[in-house]
Parts: sequence; structure tokens; C-alpha cells
Amino acid sequence: MGRRPLNFASIRQQVKCQRVLSLVDWHPRSVRGGISRGPCPIHGSTYPMSRVFVTNGQVCYCHKCKWYGDAIDLFARLASCSKLDAAYACVALIGGNPDDYKFR
Ligand SMILES: [Zn+2]
Repeated sequence: MGRRPLNFASIRQQVKCQRVLSLVDWHPRSVRGGISRGPCPIHGSTYPMSRVFVTNGQVCYCHKCKWYGDAIDLFARLASCSKLDAAYACVALIGGNPDDYKFR
């Protein structure tokens, strides 16, 4: 495939966690002060109005299972793929060109 390393830091700046969460039909139960809260897609909150999973867009944290990560981590976890595959997928999600995220 010839997949080259990508600059994860610059992808993280562009891809919000909510964009990845929308792939699994996640909707926040509350949004306040730029913080979205809802059920945790990682451990699978059973209470539909759960707000244990918190994101400010850049990172996510679950108060119950303690999962922590950014959009790339989140995609990799939800899709069970590598971080690099997730990084490419995140670039595709925002209609970006991977060449713009390569190290120069
Ligand atoms: Zn959790």
C-alpha cells in the first residue's frame, strides 16, 4: 500500500472527536461550554442518558472505564485498526488530502 507516516499532531488539530463519534451514531446528551457529554461508546454505557463520556473536541475521557484519547485513538479503538490506518481515515473524514499531513 505504501502507506507513509502521517503527522498525527496536525491531524488531531483538524479532526474533532465528535466527527469520529458521529460514525457510531453518538449524540451528546448535553453540550455546555464547548464540552459534550454522553454515553461511552468504548465500554458501552447501558443507561441511554449517560453522560460519563466527555469530549472537548480534541480529546475524550470516560469517567467510568477511564478510556482517554483523541480522534485518531478513538477511530482506531472503534474500528479496531492501527493508529496509522485511523489517521488516514480521519483525514478522509474531513475530505483532506493525506499528502498535506506528511512530514516534510
Ligand atoms: Zn467508558
